[in-house]
Amino acid sequence: MRLHVVAFGCQMSTADGGELAAPLLARGFRAAAAPEDADAVILNTCTVRQHAEDKALSLIGRLKPWKEANPDRVLIVAGCAAERLGPWIRRRFPYVDLVVGAKSIEDYPKVVAEAMAAKFDAMAENSAAFPDGTSSTTGFSAAPESPVGWLSPAVAPVTIMRGCNYSCSYCIVPHVRGRESYRPYEVVLAEARAKAALGAREILLLGQTVNSWRARAEDGVERRFPDLLRAVAAIDGVARVRFESPHPRFFDDALIEALRGIPGAGDHAHLPVQSGSDRVLALMRRNYAFDSFLERVGRLRAALPSIEVSTDIIVGFPTETDDDFERTLELVERLRPAWTYAFKYSPREGTESARGVDDVPAAVKEERLARLNALCDRFAEGALKARVGRSVEVLDETGGYGRTRDGFRVKWGTPAEPGRLRTVRLTGVMKRTLLGESE
Ligand code: SAM
Ligand code: SF4
Repeated sequence: MRLHVVAFGCQMSTADGGELAAPLLARGFRAAAAPEDADAVILNTCTVRQHAEDKALSLIGRLKPWKEANPDRVLIVAGCAAERLGPWIRRRFPYVDLVVGAKSIEDYPKVVAEAMAAKFDAMAENSAAFPDGTSSTTGFSAAPESPVGWLSPAVAPVTIMRGCNYSCSYCIVPHVRGRESYRPYEVVLAEARAKAALGAREILLLGQTVNSWRARAEDGVERRFPDLLRAVAAIDGVARVRFESPHPRFFDDALIEALRGIPGAGDHAHLPVQSGSDRVLALMRRNYAFDSFLERVGRLRAALPSIEVSTDIIVGFPTETDDDFERTLELVERLRPAWTYAFKYSPREGTESARGVDDVPAAVKEERLARLNALCDRFAEGALKARVGRSVEVLDETGGYGRTRDGFRVKWGTPAEPGRLRTVRLTGVMKRTLLGESE
């Protein structure tokens, strides 16, 4: 029995893809590189922007002939778009076997066991090709939007919280993922330890506002995110700890102090700013302004002078004027991000901002995005070129391919040994990847 998993969207979606696969792997499924080779396909969908949702829905449509060629095959659709559009997906794509929304992921092992047991048993009986029933946790399709190298045996995602308590006016996440819930301290540490014991050298802590995590531990003492970072970094075998996505509001002095004290944690921070205009930031309900955001980043850089910062920006938010957009460009000039994820505003039904008019014309959004990307590319290329000639520590993630401590992708070819930290002399740049030679 073969399983193919596709996760659209953010790293949390990709990590959830792994969780969705687990009960099937435990039943004896093995990974398939493509849907054509698979008896079961899991699609973990994203709905944060219309484009991401459309891609997932289009793939469900394209899987119709795959499913019709053999109705015993299993198609599971999960995630944020499944949460938003569950009943519609069932009607529109009646050949989907199971639709599981993002809020139900904790119940999913039970749901899938109950709904699919008979089908899986029949499949196992007919499956002479893999009689050993072995399972594998490798070979998932990388998420189409995720960086290459994801799901490496050396990098272990660990979800520490789900949901989001914010109400950024453009964002669908709180609607489809619900309010924040934090996984217990001991559970997170046990998962990180188990993954480190299996060979992970980097632990990637995940949550929508990951640094708001806190939990009362079994000893009765409340732990906050900086405490968790320190505890994870102290695990045997863990060389690096990263986290996505922190909210600027919780990037406080306690966190900066922790990053200063943990080798392998304070080399990069992703701080999504969204806009440089105070007027737009207030409409977005981001709870910070141009000055206070840059002040936080200034404190971070004063404490960790070589830290690299990356960000997310939305252009064309309703009512965004040329002046507002100029403030965003000004913020980028001051921030000097090592890389940027820039998006055109996409109205999401049910969000506060979608109740108003999406009044920035498509052509203006397009033009602003192009100008923003040109500026961000300048900083990104500058950061890459500045590294050429240096010798840096790289974690081999997928064999001859990995990342620097500050998050830049590096390709060196041989020797290839996933999980190994090696020193690579950087010799050039190809697109967004540094090229190098192992020393
Ligand atoms: N929780 C993170 C934060 O608060 O910064 C971000 C998570 S969100 C899933 C990822 C990114 O998608 C956001 O930072 C934002 O730039 C972008 N995004 C979210 N909603 C959007 C929308 N309606 N249109 C365009 N981009 C959007
Ligand atoms: Fe969305 Fe804002 Fe929550 Fe981030 S903090 S997930 S942008 S609502």
